[in-house]
Amino acid sequence: MQTIHNYDFKGKKALIRVDFNVPLNEKFEITDDSRMTAAIPTIKKVMEDGGSPVIMSHFGRPKSGPEDKFSMKHLVSHLSELLGKEVKLAPDCVGEEVKQMCQDLQPGEALLLENLRFHKGEEKGDEEFAKQLAENGGCWINDAFGTAHRAHASTAVIAKFFPNDKMFGYLIESEVESIDKVVKNPKRPLTAIMGGAKVSSKITIIENLLDKVDNLILGGGMTYTFVKANGGEVGNSICETDFLDTARNIEKLAKEKGVNLYIATDVLAADDFSEDANTKILPANEIPEGWQGLDAGPETIEKFKEVIKNSATILWNGPVGVFEMDKFAKGSIAVGEAIMEATKNGAFSLVGGGDSVACVNKYDMADGMSYISTAGGALLEYLEGRTLPGVAAVRGE
Ligand code: AMP
Repeated sequence: MQTIHNYDFKGKKALIRVDFNVPLNEKFEITDDSRMTAAIPTIKKVMEDGGSPVIMSHFGRPKSGPEDKFSMKHLVSHLSELLGKEVKLAPDCVGEEVKQMCQDLQPGEALLLENLRFHKGEEKGDEEFAKQLAENGGCWINDAFGTAHRAHASTAVIAKFFPNDKMFGYLIESEVESIDKVVKNPKRPLTAIMGGAKVSSKITIIENLLDKVDNLILGGGMTYTFVKANGGEVGNSICETDFLDTARNIEKLAKEKGVNLYIATDVLAADDFSEDANTKILPANEIPEGWQGLDAGPETIEKFKEVIKNSATILWNGPVGVFEMDKFAKGSIAVGEAIMEATKNGAFSLVGGGDSVACVNKYDMADGMSYISTAGGALLEYLEGRTLPGVAAVRGE
């Protein structure tokens, strides 16, 4: 299999699928460019090897056809800055004019194609559209892990036009390697910390992880569905009463599979969902009406820390409290710090899923983790045990 490490890009137009779906403010300024910076090493590699990157991405959710606010023109000057070289912008992503622009590129020159989603064929995975895209380059690099779970024209279907010239970019390669360190032959004990608001959105992952992990810490809003399922009083805490059986089943499965399950025994409860609320520490199963659990309590935090520090592989998805408010961030910070300590002592740690990444960044803990995944949905689907079309296409599976 070709890789970005051994492929000869000299004189080649390299079609690179990236994820430049960055947030803009009302003045069309980029407010977080991390998705762009993440793709720079792959683009630079092609340029430095004497190839010409032809960069393609989706951007926003245009409804039907081109829309000014979703044009790549808002990104091209920042991309030029990041690459230290002026990047040209194509008026479209397919067609004769674009094909010509690609052919005219000199070694080391880069071209940014217009938004892929201006064409319906992208999301439909249309083969004819994929073929037209493929005509713009001599090889295809998939570096968009964020969309690897979609079988779109540029993320998967296009692979068939490059049977011998397709590969992962650095970003997707390291994402896949890192996740595989957790889901395939991990160093043990393997601990997963699943937090966030709801059980319902995480059931499939939790069930899949039960086959793999030694320890499963369930925190955040999910706590109260489990507490209630065991007959506890959760007051006004977030609780999915339709999922009480699911919670009981997860506990049963954990027992059958020999997984140690950890759920809060005490919580930091508040009389309002606000930074100004009155708070007190309560047993997780004795929360009166008018109060809601918004963070893990001290006894729980100590237990979580102990489990994490004794782990050799750690996966963290989802905060264990409402970390957006400093008052309820203690539990998530403690989890983050314990992971950092374990990592320092040789454990492998992977943090992924939007909110835990935001938490790690907010409290400046990113440098202490082994790997931070930039992909939300794709990471979660991979953890659910599903095949990702964008990964399978490159591997020829
Ligand atoms: P998710 O997107 O499912 O990972 O959920 C993340 C969100 O869960 C964060 O915004 C947290 O504020 C929220 N969250 C964590 N713990 C709680 C809780 N006890 N009550 C309500 N929301 C929570």
